[in-house]
Amino acid sequence: MKAFDAVILGSGGAGLMCALTAAKRGKTVAVLDHAAKPGGKLIISGGGRCNFTNREVSAENFVSENEHFAKSALSRYTPQDFIELVESHGIAYHERKHGQLFCDASAQQIIDLLVGDCVKAGAQILQKHKIRKAEKTNDGYLVTTDQGGFTATKLVVATGGLSFPKFGATSIGYDIAKQFGLKLTELAPALDGFVFGAEDKKRLDGFSGIALDAKMTTNGISFRENLLFTHAGFSGPVALQASLHWRPGDEVRINFVPAMTRDELMEWFSSRKGNKLEIKNQMASFVPKRLAERFCDLYLPENFDMGNFPKARLAAFCEQLQDWRFLPAGTVGYGKAEVTRGGVDTNELSSKTMEAKKAPGLYFIGEVVDVTGWLGGFNYQWAWASGKAAGEAL
Ligand SMILES: Cc1cc2nc3c(=O)[nH]c(=O)nc-3n(C[C@H](O)[C@H](O)[C@H](O)COP(=O)(O)OP(=O)(O)OC[C@H]3O[C@@H](n4cnc5c(N)ncnc54)[C@H](O)[C@@H]3O)c2cc1C
Repeated sequence: MKAFDAVILGSGGAGLMCALTAAKRGKTVAVLDHAAKPGGKLIISGGGRCNFTNREVSAENFVSENEHFAKSALSRYTPQDFIELVESHGIAYHERKHGQLFCDASAQQIIDLLVGDCVKAGAQILQKHKIRKAEKTNDGYLVTTDQGGFTATKLVVATGGLSFPKFGATSIGYDIAKQFGLKLTELAPALDGFVFGAEDKKRLDGFSGIALDAKMTTNGISFRENLLFTHAGFSGPVALQASLHWRPGDEVRINFVPAMTRDELMEWFSSRKGNKLEIKNQMASFVPKRLAERFCDLYLPENFDMGNFPKARLAAFCEQLQDWRFLPAGTVGYGKAEVTRGGVDTNELSSKTMEAKKAPGLYFIGEVVDVTGWLGGFNYQWAWASGKAAGEAL
């Protein structure tokens, strides 16, 4: 039996940040993970370049039943802190739109940074350790794995969410929370886009592959970004963002021409002449040609003639283009979701240390907690900030 000050379950971004923070403070730390290599989802993040933070991060960029919970940790470990860490390791990075920061070369650089700092500080990272169970002992916790037992005064759960099961995601973090009597909020796949119902699938036959700048609104929150029609629904950054805020039964509204006001769009049509074919071709100046064609076929009469088209019907057509509504059958699901929305109820945890109020010495950090970031580097900033908060407290 090996004894440590702290055992951390999960060697993803949150677990490694926690381990290096605690080890630097002189704590003996072991990180246990069943995967072959450390880093969790880092290696596949940001298309392989890891969107490791965002220049502007506030609690508003997160969804949680308690919108205030994340504030304390986020204010004590800011994007600038992580940027300084990245720079101190000589990792080149660049900024994309909306303040998103990515490695120039590879997400592996972030893994090497974290693992290197853990090892330098003396933390042990033990991969290929399948966790069988975690239990309370008289003076701490006992974790049983297929490679033997580990005891520790403090136990940190950093096992992430349910998304991307093919990458090793399991429900173990939630199971441990329940085992210790902690409540969970409702779990759902998020940042995954939408799936059409049967009717929309029929209506939108032939749209698959169209990509355009669009504004999507659901639950009173709007995003403007790239939208992609797939054969089954909507993907692309704007659909991923919206899926985080959507609840079953909510309507989703799309503006396919966000660059124009309604008056400008009406004016554009009113100043044209021609039949349906001519209008389709001219619309290609502001929407993809295929979208123009499919929309005109769906919503304009066969004998369309711009000169004789009643204003009220033109207004209705513009409304379809700028306020198209649909009821998703659901979101895409855990197989493709970037995150799991929901998790360990934040009312169960200290916002300062991430320690469970009902189970002294037990901590939850990263995605397993009910704090879910928007697309754009926010989820890793939460992993760093919550990992740091717990690492300082162990
Ligand atoms: C394709 C994709 C791209 C993404 N890109 C970005 C991005 O660019 N920027 C961003 O901010 N966020 C991104 N995310 C979200 C981000 O990856 C997560 O929010 C983040 O990984 C959470 O970190 P974590 O340490 O809490 O969990 P994870 O990184 O999921 O780590 C959990 C670890 O626990 C281990 N584990 C799980 N179950 C067990 C078990 N039973 N026994 C032992 N070990 C176990 C896993 O092997 C894993 O190593 C992306 C997600 C996906 C799926």
